[in-house]
Amino acid sequence: MVRFDIVSQGEELVSGSTTDTNATWICAELKERGFTAGWVTVVGDELDGIRDALASAARRARIVICTGGLGPTSDDLTTDAAALAFQLGTAEDPVALGQIEERYRSRNRPMPPANRKQAILPTGAVLLENQWGTAPGYWLDVDGCRLYFLPGVPSEMKRMFAHHVLPDLAARYALPPRRTVQLRCIGLAESEAGQRMQDFPLPGVTIGYRAHLPEIHVKLHLEPGVDAGPVIAEARRRLGDYVFTVDGGPLPAVVGALLTERGETVATAESCTAGRIAADFTSVPGASAWYVGGAVVYANAEKVRQCGVDPAVLEECGAVSEPVARALAEGIRERTGATWGLGVTGIAGPSGGTPEKPVGTVHIAVAGPDGTTHRRLKLPFDRARNLQMSTALAEDLLLRRLDGR
Ligand code: AMP
Ligand code: MG
Repeated sequence: MVRFDIVSQGEELVSGSTTDTNATWICAELKERGFTAGWVTVVGDELDGIRDALASAARRARIVICTGGLGPTSDDLTTDAAALAFQLGTAEDPVALGQIEERYRSRNRPMPPANRKQAILPTGAVLLENQWGTAPGYWLDVDGCRLYFLPGVPSEMKRMFAHHVLPDLAARYALPPRRTVQLRCIGLAESEAGQRMQDFPLPGVTIGYRAHLPEIHVKLHLEPGVDAGPVIAEARRRLGDYVFTVDGGPLPAVVGALLTERGETVATAESCTAGRIAADFTSVPGASAWYVGGAVVYANAEKVRQCGVDPAVLEECGAVSEPVARALAEGIRERTGATWGLGVTGIAGPSGGTPEKPVGTVHIAVAGPDGTTHRRLKLPFDRARNLQMSTALAEDLLLRRLDGR
């Protein structure tokens, strides 16, 4: 078992203004690849503190990942601290300096003199180019421990980690590939997912859960040599048709991918969700290929005007009803010429409920080339979650028509 330690460096991390997401992210990445987490040390902008944190991490672990403190300002102390911790000198690295200058040149800006400091590395450091920011990273070998120094900005850190650290670790430790399979579910509570996966019968599988509302993600970590096929089949059997993708993207992206593949389009008519589905769909890059547009039809008059809902049906059944949801879906489909029409009408709460139509009653409908399907929801949440779930379950109702679940 190869053990790693993390040193997260930055005053903002110890003063309570920033959460140390770097450490959490790195721990998950390394754990997934079979490394064992030791200590995570968080230290502020204090030379002696960083020195001690690095020195003790290097004594404990074979791998140390340090993030932060590589910037150009006087509070960026990591390199000085590393030099102190391991009794090394420091020197300007001409290659690092060239890379920093090149970044400024490519953006047509002069390099501020302060940035020259970022080219100073401890002696013996191996430079890691940062193509995503100005602070170069590096690694240092000290008594059987390799310490990787990465910038603190999470987006840069993640890319540096993927680009430099992982390939180096894979080469040094000949890690057998460890596969992770992710099943995304909609409409299922995390506790229910856990119950369904209890006593999983196949060996070599570790199961993790994550609520990424409105989705629930079930992660299967497969040990080397475990055949993924039967594991996925058993997990799908247990989780049922709540699983809308295996190793795919978020719900609206999966809808978009299928529509694109089929050369089809969708339009939306939303009462209670009031554009949330439209916003969700258009958050997917390339949505213009498959999302036509839609209407927010909050008032009854707008349901009539924009979707052609029959006023007599509104009068007789009420706005929150199956016939109105169907009429919204069919009306918007017809008026936009989209392949699919999606209609939503409901009572999100906390007020507006009646004994026959309590808060959380939502009707969703999908109109398509082969007719209209409808589902009545009874949601138990507060207003915000009721709207979030209505949005997701309406998208899922369309997806079910597309993927045949
Ligand atoms: P630095 O590389 O120390 O100049 O950090 C640059 C910025 O990255 C900081 O201002 C923080 O916003 C962010 N940052 C640094 N360390 C972390 C961390 N461990 N987790 C999350 N964000 C961080
Ligand atoms: Mg800092």
